[in-house]
Amino acid sequence: ERGRALRHARSPAVTTDGVRVRVKANVSSLAVARLGADLGAEGSGLVRTEAVFAQWRQAPSVDQQVQVYAAMAAVYHPHPVTIRTWDVGGDKPLPFHPLPVEGNPFLSARGLRAFVEDPSLLLDQLQAVCTVAVDHPLAVLFPMVTTVQDVRWARELLATAARRAGLSAPPPGLQVGIMVEVPAAALGIAHLAQGLDLVSIGSNDLVQYTLAAERGNPRLAAWSDALDPAVLSLVRSVTAGVPEGVRVGLCGAMAGDPDLAGLLVGLGVQELSASAASVPLVKQRLRTGSTAEFGDLAARALACPDGASVRALVQEAQPTPT
Ligand code: PEP
Ligand code: MG
Repeated sequence: ERGRALRHARSPAVTTDGVRVRVKANVSSLAVARLGADLGAEGSGLVRTEAVFAQWRQAPSVDQQVQVYAAMAAVYHPHPVTIRTWDVGGDKPLPFHPLPVEGNPFLSARGLRAFVEDPSLLLDQLQAVCTVAVDHPLAVLFPMVTTVQDVRWARELLATAARRAGLSAPPPGLQVGIMVEVPAAALGIAHLAQGLDLVSIGSNDLVQYTLAAERGNPRLAAWSDALDPAVLSLVRSVTAGVPEGVRVGLCGAMAGDPDLAGLLVGLGVQELSASAASVPLVKQRLRTGSTAEFGDLAARALACPDGASVRALVQEAQPTPT
């Protein structure tokens, strides 16, 4: 299956009934961006900028960021690259944006919230994004969004950054979106996604917050099941609840598991962003079924009592190796 997947890596992933599902790469450096493009990724659905600049002692300037984002855009041309703004806090330290020590870092001022008191770093980043978006296809994603006010604030900041970049407004080609990682955002998506171009489900954090189980803590592995029907139900809330025309992607680790590709499409997810290495196999698996079959699998998964039953269902649905 792997050989076949690699041979067809550069071809689109089209279901047996003709629906194209874009598979993109998660990017943490320019080298990973190149690897993803070589392996057939159709753009990047998630550039983890805090990882790209993790080794920097000082914050990169606007110009330095412009260079990096433009280089990534060039790698994927004509496909878009999705720049996620600094996602700091919880499991993600950023040397040039230290945060106060708090008792519950995952429930504290992380992601977008970490910039409310001093938005200057975020403004610099958005200025770079606006500059690059003038002549490259780009999307911007805000992490850890919880409320409608978060979205409003982020968009105001984007407008301010555009003016700083010498533009009257954010470039029309710049797609604007939010990460859906908090159950409140999944449930309120009809309001939060109003006027946006895309939303991207961050399943790693969505699992953590839905099941109240700290990500990466091995003692909590039994509770950290991405296949728990409660998680799937929130994914469904997002795909069913977004306003017309808003694209729904998923960029957590789930997107890189080929066994789950059909299930996610069946739940209504329109594009997947996965680790570069898993792009060919995810594409290959999407070619093995129809959206009706995937939808049927998703409906049965949503009716399961627990993650173990969903896993059994998904295993049973896999194509037999030839
Ligand atoms: C996620 O939470 O699923 C996600 C893609 O973001 P990160 O893993 O960087 O928190
Ligand atoms: Mg996350």
